[in-house]
Order: sequence, then structure tokens, then C-alpha cells
Amino acid sequence: MTLLTEQENKELDKIKEKCLHCQKCPLSKTRTNIVFSGGIPNHKMMLIGEAPGFYEDQKGEPFVGKAGQLLDKILASVGFSRNEHLYICNTLKCRPPENRDPLPEEKEACKEYLEAQINILKPRIILLCGRVAVQSMLDTKQGIIKIRGKWFEGPNFSKMMPIYHPSYLLRNDSREKGSPKWQMWQDIQEIRRVYDLMD
Ligand code: SF4
Repeated sequence: MTLLTEQENKELDKIKEKCLHCQKCPLSKTRTNIVFSGGIPNHKMMLIGEAPGFYEDQKGEPFVGKAGQLLDKILASVGFSRNEHLYICNTLKCRPPENRDPLPEEKEACKEYLEAQINILKPRIILLCGRVAVQSMLDTKQGIIKIRGKWFEGPNFSKMMPIYHPSYLLRNDSREKGSPKWQMWQDIQEIRRVYDLMD
């Protein structure tokens, strides 16, 4: 895994600073904290989630609470950890009230920050975690159930894969063959395989 140069880290800090004062959409009025990123800034793997939920908004970190714990378990099942192997960010940096879906105008307003993060990191693998992230990054009308686990060409010649959001997996507890949790297990193994090939 390649870490960012000092210059790239400085560029990332500048974007974060801009975000911290951002008032480009009405979510700035209801947020507690901006959730800019988690994990480790690197050029190899990035995970893009949807938008901060209640706990993320409280802590200013992505993927905390039960969904975050499940994400960590999924990563750990193939030897990944968020502090060693991936950078984590969201489509939106501020929490939509009551965890509703982001509005198109909010996504449009926040897009510049996500694009800047991708362009500075230039990750080789991008994981699109959940429907909102898929809709933001892929020009497709297909639902996540159909396209999860498939590789798509991403920005800067990266490989992008849609995966289930851990919140969805928490609502679908079965581990039987063909269940969402079983599919996630197939997907994370494939991600590990491709990750290792890129070393
Ligand atoms: S969601 Fe994005 S665009 Fe809206 S206020 Fe927060 S940082 Fe700015």
C-alpha cells in the first residue's frame, strides 16, 4: 500500500478545512459535525458510503455504531482493518435529518469534496457501499442486488465494486447460501484477491 506524499496530505487537509466551514446546502444547519473521512489515506483502496447517520454525526467519524462494527468484522474476516488498508468517506459529509436519503441537490452540492478526495488519493480499488454510493458513482439504473460483487471501471483507471451497506446486512441476518451476508462474504474474498494481485 502506498501512503500519500506530504504534498498530497496537505491538499487533503485543505479540502477538509473547506468542508468544515461549508454551508453550501441546508444540511449545514442541522449537522452536529462534519464527517470528512476515516481510515488511512492511501493510494490503494477507498470505501465510499452514503451519508453520516446519528452516531457518525455525533462523533464526526464514518461508520461508527452497529453498522461500523459489522463493517470492521467483514474487513477483518479477510485480514483488512480500516486503519491499515483503506480510506473511508461518504457521498455526503453532513447528516440528512432522520437519516433520510440525500436529496439530489445535496449530492450535487457535496460532489466537489468527494471528487477532490478521489482525485487526490487516486485509489486503485473503490468500494461503493450501498445504493446511494452506487448511484453517485455509476451511471446505472440497476439495483445493488443485481450489481453487487461486479467490477466496474472507475476514475483514474481504478476498479470499482458495489457492495452491500452493513446496515442492510444487519436487517438481513441469514447466513444461508445466497443470502446477502453470504454474498458479502463472496465479495470481500474477491476484493482481497484483487487487492493482493495489485501488490
Ligand atoms: S452536505 Fe456537503 S455541501 Fe452540504 S453543507 Fe455539508 S459539506 Fe457542504
